[in-house]
Amino acid sequence: MKLQIIGSGVMYPQNNRFSSAYLVSVKNEKILLDCGSGTLLKMFENKIPYEKINHIFISHTHTDHIADLMPILHSWYVKGIFNHNKTRTSPVYIYGAKGFKKMFDQLRYYFWPDETPQFEIKIIESNFQKIHIDNITLEIFPVIHAKDKLNLQPRGIVIDDCRSTLVYTGDADLAAARTIINKSQKADALLIESAKPIKFGAGSHLEPREVGIIANEANVRKVIVTHLTEKNNNLEINEEITRYYKGKVIIAKDGMKLTI
Ligand SMILES: [Zn+2]
Repeated sequence: MKLQIIGSGVMYPQNNRFSSAYLVSVKNEKILLDCGSGTLLKMFENKIPYEKINHIFISHTHTDHIADLMPILHSWYVKGIFNHNKTRTSPVYIYGAKGFKKMFDQLRYYFWPDETPQFEIKIIESNFQKIHIDNITLEIFPVIHAKDKLNLQPRGIVIDDCRSTLVYTGDADLAAARTIINKSQKADALLIESAKPIKFGAGSHLEPREVGIIANEANVRKVIVTHLTEKNNNLEINEEITRYYKGKVIIAKDGMKLTI
């Protein structure tokens, strides 16, 4: 399983960090985890064959995780038209929360109402069931973020290809720690957010110290810390995490490629 970091930042652009997006390549599947603002541009700049993405997981509907969904889908259609109708024909599966289909249809109505693509868009409103694709299992699980006041239904995902396991937390705060620990026990890699600056106090995200505690209790092989701001430098993040966790710490960077 391969992981490419497309965007390791938060809601606003920073020097070397754009909004959330990660590409998982496993067997014949290309799974995009979130697609915040700038994802399409960064995929183009990184020469990622984004037409081949066949699964898109939306952790929640804040713009730094979903803003480029419609531009990506619409680009496939228009690029095909301008290339002698060589548009993709294979379906794309989009995994969202309960009610996502209704929201998606509204986005289509306003942003892209006038054409029917030659590829099928299959919306899967996941209710935390396990999804099997050949020998790959996707397990979506609930997390807690922004106290779910606005029906965000935030969620993380476990991707298991029988050889290795990757867990992505999406956005989460400390109240989700126990669930993340349970779902990522002995995982090969935990891709975990840490948007909250060190000693920031209460907030809707995790800070590096909390990442260290979770990674230690989950006994994961490596932790990939992401969703970062300029408020902490890499050294500070690493020091905080390694006070609690003795495994491998990778601080995500846009463009980084990893084998899980
Ligand atoms: Zn976020």
